[in-house]
Amino acid sequence: MSAPVIGVLAVQGGVREHLRVLERLGATAVEVRRTAHLEGLDGIVLPGGESTTMSTLLTVGGMFEPLRDALAAGLPAFGTCAGLIMLSREVLDTRPDARSLGALDIAVRRNAFGRQVASFETDLDVSGVDDPVHAVFIRAPWVERVGDDVEVLARVTDGPADGAVVAVRQGVVLGISFHPELTEDDRMHRYFLDIVAGTR
Ligand code: GLN
Repeated sequence: MSAPVIGVLAVQGGVREHLRVLERLGATAVEVRRTAHLEGLDGIVLPGGESTTMSTLLTVGGMFEPLRDALAAGLPAFGTCAGLIMLSREVLDTRPDARSLGALDIAVRRNAFGRQVASFETDLDVSGVDDPVHAVFIRAPWVERVGDDVEVLARVTDGPADGAVVAVRQGVVLGISFHPELTEDDRMHRYFLDIVAGTR
């Protein structure tokens, strides 16, 4: 089978690191800057960054609706941090004009870990991944509500945020609060590419 074509939403945020990991894993990784770039994708990554800025840029650039429609039509997606926020149905603690894409039936809270632990690292047991994943959190969201069709893949298990949900999956859509592209560990990207492979 040919290499999967994976887009990385490139309106704002940590695009380059994701492109690099995806290429290393054998995917054809392409930047998605305009609606036309959604054509022919087997999956899309929504990177970390600033969700309210992404919302504005997607809206101004006319890509919000086409992307939302592509997700609704079943395009596999992987959101990390701000990308998780963008994929959510409901966002708590955001700007009133910020929009999200509704591909995951969850509510997330932005900057949920608060000032004390705004950025931290911990090891997570992720359902479906053999050994613990070292996770880097940067002003991360957590998940406060999950719909019936959403599988919780990981929770924080220590510190003040003990129990917080930080990884979920709903069908072909994967969302995590942390930044796998900033570590050498590519297992979350592999997890996503396995989802994509299952659809081809
Ligand atoms: N706090 C950012 C937001 O609300 C997310 C941070 C990140 O992606 N590292 O969008």
